Amino acid sequence: MKRLIVTALGLLPFGAAALAEAPAAPLPFVLKQVGPGVYAAIDGPEHKAGSNAGFVIGDDGVLVVDSFINVDAARALVGEIHRLTPKPIRYVVNTHYHLDHTGGDQALRDAGAIIIAHKNVRGWLRVNNVNLFGDRITPEIRTRIAALPLPDVVTDKDLTVWLGSRKVVVRTVLGHTGGDLTIFVPDAHVLFTGDMLWRKIPPNLIDGSVKEWLATDEDFIHMADAAQAIYVPGHGDVANATDVQDFRAYLLDLRRLVSEGRKAKLKDDALTAFVEPKLKALHPDWTISDRAAAAEVRYMDKELAGTKKRPVPGED
Ligand SMILES: [Zn+2]
Repeated sequence: MKRLIVTALGLLPFGAAALAEAPAAPLPFVLKQVGPGVYAAIDGPEHKAGSNAGFVIGDDGVLVVDSFINVDAARALVGEIHRLTPKPIRYVVNTHYHLDHTGGDQALRDAGAIIIAHKNVRGWLRVNNVNLFGDRITPEIRTRIAALPLPDVVTDKDLTVWLGSRKVVVRTVLGHTGGDLTIFVPDAHVLFTGDMLWRKIPPNLIDGSVKEWLATDEDFIHMADAAQAIYVPGHGDVANATDVQDFRAYLLDLRRLVSEGRKAKLKDDALTAFVEPKLKALHPDWTISDRAAAAEVRYMDKELAGTKKRPVPGED
């Protein structure tokens, strides 16, 4: 009783105050079971999680895929995992370095996880993430990026992680950043694609190669159990092989339209004005903002011109 009164006066240290019986905040994501012990955490309508994440519960522990954009969202995910299983959180696999997928890594590490990432992520995490924000960068975001925990285990090859008898396959793929991983759970036919797949939302091409991206997504469609596969995209709702086809069609349309505009000598705003309405008409069920369309056209134009800058791998 005494404790509750003190809590109400706000005199307890933060950690204890957090235990006070305030109504729980709504989760910033929607948890969806996509297989036995396999969950997708889909960014909520207010986009407070920043991206999708997920996790796999094995015999002797849990592997988490991505950590959202900040530690608050990641802590909420840890809370949901602890609600579902007493097994320890052993790993978090970052699908790529972008802050909306790595911003909560510290919360996973605090929960006991080893951070696994592509080898290029270590060099890019605290440096290249600043570029994602362009003119929207703030001192607070800079500080957060500079303090991101670096991955513990890195690879440029495929990895198999065993959660007891449960097999999880981590694969290196090409297209989104130059340091991308996917996570496959063979016994549940679930593929966590990271940002190699977006569902009905324009992808961020800032570090991408559409050419490589299309090839990787072609492989997704032709993987052994594609007909029954469930794809957890980096952004947008849980997907199937038809959604992967739809995403590829979007990228192909973007590339074709930008190419046509370039042939007509259109540049910058004129090129966007040529492409955007056609792209929207071809994909009426997609949510395409003007800002996203302009950025996509700019990056696609650069890729076709051969002047696209992509992150450069470091020494290690
Ligand atoms: Zn990304």
